[in-house]
Amino acid sequence: MLQLRPSKGTSKTRENETVSVLRFRLEPTKEQEQTLFHTFSLCRRLYNEALEERVTAYRENGVSIRYTEQQNRLPVWKQEHPEYNEVHSQVLQNVLQRLDQAFVNFFEKRAKFPKFKNKFMFRSITYPQARNTYFRDNKVYLPKIGWVRMRAHLPFDPVSIKMINVKFHDSKWYVNLTYVTEAVAPLREIQNAAGIDLGLLSLIATSDGEFFENPKWLQKSEKRLKRKQRQLSRKKKGSNNREKAKRELGYIHDHVANQRKDHLHKVSRSLIDRYDLICMEDLQVKGMMKNHRLAKSIVNVSWGKLATYLEYKAKNAGKQLIKVPPHHTSQLCSGGCGTIVKKDLSVRIHKCSVCGLEIDRDVNAAINILHRGLEILQQVS
Ligand SMILES: [Zn+2]
Repeated sequence: MLQLRPSKGTSKTRENETVSVLRFRLEPTKEQEQTLFHTFSLCRRLYNEALEERVTAYRENGVSIRYTEQQNRLPVWKQEHPEYNEVHSQVLQNVLQRLDQAFVNFFEKRAKFPKFKNKFMFRSITYPQARNTYFRDNKVYLPKIGWVRMRAHLPFDPVSIKMINVKFHDSKWYVNLTYVTEAVAPLREIQNAAGIDLGLLSLIATSDGEFFENPKWLQKSEKRLKRKQRQLSRKKKGSNNREKAKRELGYIHDHVANQRKDHLHKVSRSLIDRYDLICMEDLQVKGMMKNHRLAKSIVNVSWGKLATYLEYKAKNAGKQLIKVPPHHTSQLCSGGCGTIVKKDLSVRIHKCSVCGLEIDRDVNAAINILHRGLEILQQVS
């Protein structure tokens, strides 16, 4: 069984708070886009130089450089490289924090040694301390970049937004807004954390390598429901037979829906009992991204229900549910090597030729989801 525990520093969220992320599309102007790319490249250079510095200090003098030391030297760095005055200071600090996190992950054996980043690996920046004045009518203020158009398809409370992350992915711009809401029960210390992924064959897979199946009786009822639906479609419109079949279908439909709910309650209860932190993919984004490959609407409905059940059960138990942006969770290697292992849906096993990891594809995704959740938790505190 995989032992994935957050580092000691991760339960830093204030008491009574849960952390979630909203993702919207961003629409920067051409000019803002240029500035963002320029910022990425400056941040990437800082990241690589800071990594180089840590490596050299260790190799030549056997000393480990800490985050605070590197952060304290930022003003000097800016004097030597005046172009860095074009980047917001918190963004620069966050770059050093990311590097620090990469080392923490390495030392706690969750990831390989931090790598130098090329321009394709560095495509996001984070403003760790958002202000409520940064939001107005579908625009977000990114210090040193300006007011950028944002397609906010969901309402949100600007006061609850703690962190802004801007990302360029698949030729599109996104903004991730991390927000906190108050929990009903006081938060417990995180001792057990898990990521869960919507399985293709099973209901869910966890980062601990466990699978939750849909029980046989539910599978049976669902088959029966489908058969009845097909029968109905063959009956003549307006006929008595059709009306009768329609009523019958209605009963079966309700029955199956209740069975499914019961089962999801059991699964969510079992997860909440076992874990203090559960990470899952953000449904809204997931819906947009993956709908085309989730043929069965049933799957989507179940996933949405499971999210809702987990959310309120977590709140009541003083535990946390973090919803993470879903990109690449199934392709990225969770062994920490950062490799993207492309595979279509027929490939059940994730096999990484770089680090040699070989595990179930859904478990691989669940581990990536857990890592992402822990990162968010760390950044927000
Ligand atoms: Zn790998």
